[in-house]
Amino acid sequence: MKFTVVGAGAMGLRYGVLLQQAGNEVEFVDAWEPHVNKMKEQGGVYVTRDKENRHLVPVKVYTPEEYHNTDSDVVIFFLKQMQLGEMLERCSHFFTDKQYALTGMNGMGHIEKLLKYFKPEKVLAGTALVATILKAPGEVDFVGKPGAGSMNLANYTEKPDEMTHKVVAELEKANINPTLTTNFRGTLMAKVVFNSVVNTLCTLFEITMGEYANFEKADELSRALIDEAYDVCERDGVKMLQTREEELATVNYVSKVANPLHYPSMYQDMSKNRPTEVDYINGYLVKLGRKHNYEAKTHAFLTNLVHLAEHTRQER
Ligand code: NAD
Repeated sequence: MKFTVVGAGAMGLRYGVLLQQAGNEVEFVDAWEPHVNKMKEQGGVYVTRDKENRHLVPVKVYTPEEYHNTDSDVVIFFLKQMQLGEMLERCSHFFTDKQYALTGMNGMGHIEKLLKYFKPEKVLAGTALVATILKAPGEVDFVGKPGAGSMNLANYTEKPDEMTHKVVAELEKANINPTLTTNFRGTLMAKVVFNSVVNTLCTLFEITMGEYANFEKADELSRALIDEAYDVCERDGVKMLQTREEELATVNYVSKVANPLHYPSMYQDMSKNRPTEVDYINGYLVKLGRKHNYEAKTHAFLTNLVHLAEHTRQER
């Protein structure tokens, strides 16, 4: 199968390199010129696993304007939410009616943008449950042992077709550990809710997931955010994959047992003085609530706090 990865950042490189190593043809398109130039100069990307075994993986990489191949079966999108609209415009010349779009981006806001360029029956989206760090231009760290992490994904139409199963089979071969569901919004919102608690609070207080979850009042904080998020989702008719109590248990398990030393990706953006995706996570819950005349006050307050933190760092 042939894949074009739009967004050769941390996650685009992880998915693309693993799919390439599983025998697929993969090409990368990226707009951050220092990174693209570095990969071209060194003949690929330097990959480490948990900071060890640094080695060069050859990759084919292009800027959107340099890339004109239209023969990919699947276009994978891994950008920050606020980059997607402009990148879709810059890449639209190589999209075709036959192509599938696959994404594992965090937050919500990306689906309606993708639907402007891809047919609904060709949109596959999910959540990537794994950590990856773009350390510098041309340098990426895949956190976790080979086979670490997983992804949940669903068709926008909730009707898997033959191509969906082929894509899932390639993700399996690449050790990405996909689980296909037929609950599109429930699948995506599960991660939005998780991130609205852990990503946001760890980012604001510059702490690891373990430090957060081991705080004595963590359950109280998590429960308040989960309750409000579920109130919003239920009003919008989302069929959640887990109960509120199960969601709280997931927050604790992932933070205390699976990734206690991990700083969530929103923190990584904040620490590099880049804008965060908070408007597409907590901010999305606020917007969705308002559609139903429900004020998700705690999420609104947290969204503003993250913007205050971003602003304070910019001013320093
Ligand atoms: P990323 O920031 O590493 O890369 C996204 C884009 O930003 C790429 O085009 C990259 O080249 C560009 N970029 C990176 N640093 C830049 C800089 N300093 N200046 C200008 N451009 C820069 O993003 P990512 O971590 O791959 O995340 C993509 C999506 O996947 C997001 O929605 C994210 O929330 C989600 N996600 C990330 C992780 C993770 O561990 N990184 C895990 C699950 C989901």
